[in-house]
Amino acid sequence: EALQSHTVALPDGTSLPRIGQGTWKMGEYPEKKKEEIKALQFGLDLGMSVIDTAEMYGDGQSEQIVGEAVKNRRDEAFLISKVYPHNANLSNIHKACEKSLQRLKTDYLDMYLLHWRGLSDGSLQETVEGLEKLRKEGKILRWGVSNFDTSDMKELMGIENGSNCSINQVLYHLGSRGIDFDLLPWHREQQLPMMAYSPLGQGGSLISQLMNNLDIKEIAEKHQAKPLQIALAWTIRTKEILAIPKGTSQNHVMENAEAATIELSEDDLQKLDKVFPKPDRKMPLDII
Ligand code: NDP
Repeated sequence: EALQSHTVALPDGTSLPRIGQGTWKMGEYPEKKKEEIKALQFGLDLGMSVIDTAEMYGDGQSEQIVGEAVKNRRDEAFLISKVYPHNANLSNIHKACEKSLQRLKTDYLDMYLLHWRGLSDGSLQETVEGLEKLRKEGKILRWGVSNFDTSDMKELMGIENGSNCSINQVLYHLGSRGIDFDLLPWHREQQLPMMAYSPLGQGGSLISQLMNNLDIKEIAEKHQAKPLQIALAWTIRTKEILAIPKGTSQNHVMENAEAATIELSEDDLQKLDKVFPKPDRKMPLDII
């Protein structure tokens, strides 16, 4: 637990540890299921209680893995699932949520997110209505959105009960920091937290970018950490952000948990800004 001493406050006052666990692609390969369940349980042991899944992931198989992982320890976990935009209407949302609950073997979600925005007129209002209904029924304790840019968030706030939104989950890592221009400042102003997805850049080219830079190597050595842990610590450097890296190996899960203890100095941050510059204009929201 000590590894996760920093927290993010949700609008209802609930505090969450700043590093949670992603589960995209889990459950897709039968031979990996055991390892995935163990990784999530190990993460829970280390205090990474926020677990993020979606009806989309592996067509429900990721939710099943999470359900296995939290069996007998549901109370330790803060479960988030997401609804497809095509299910986020009054006709489908109830059933979609029930199915997620069944796969997760639980009777409530701590948070339910609209996975991305649907395009038809009026659909956002209908989604909020559906989410509010589920909240009143106790199927979900709170709701939020994902992949919403600044204009989407402003529109949401103008809708009845739209301000009951608890979080916005968006792509954010050192190599993709467009939200630093306006979305993150807007969230800060509204005191509405954000959740950083793919905070490790999916373990891809970000790693080589980090490894090839001497300044970053030096920062990592100073903190006795790996460059990727520095990148993860960077995403949660301000108190309104929590990140949900996905780790399957216990070693990765441990490294990700430890990143919460790294305190980057002003000097570290300035050096990181030189390698990965802050945006100086509005960038469209990056989406995977
Ligand atoms: P991440 O940035 O979390 O990267 C995951 C990859 O990094 C995996 O290959 C993993 O390997 C590897 N990795 C994990 N920890 C380490 C480490 N310490 N050192 C080196 N490599 C490491 O990518 P994701 O796209 O999975 O994003 C995280 C989560 O965000 C998703 O799982 C999902 O829950 C959510 N998400 C939400 C989206 C949305 O639209 N709302 C879109 C995309 C993601 P291994 O598994 O072998 O440990």
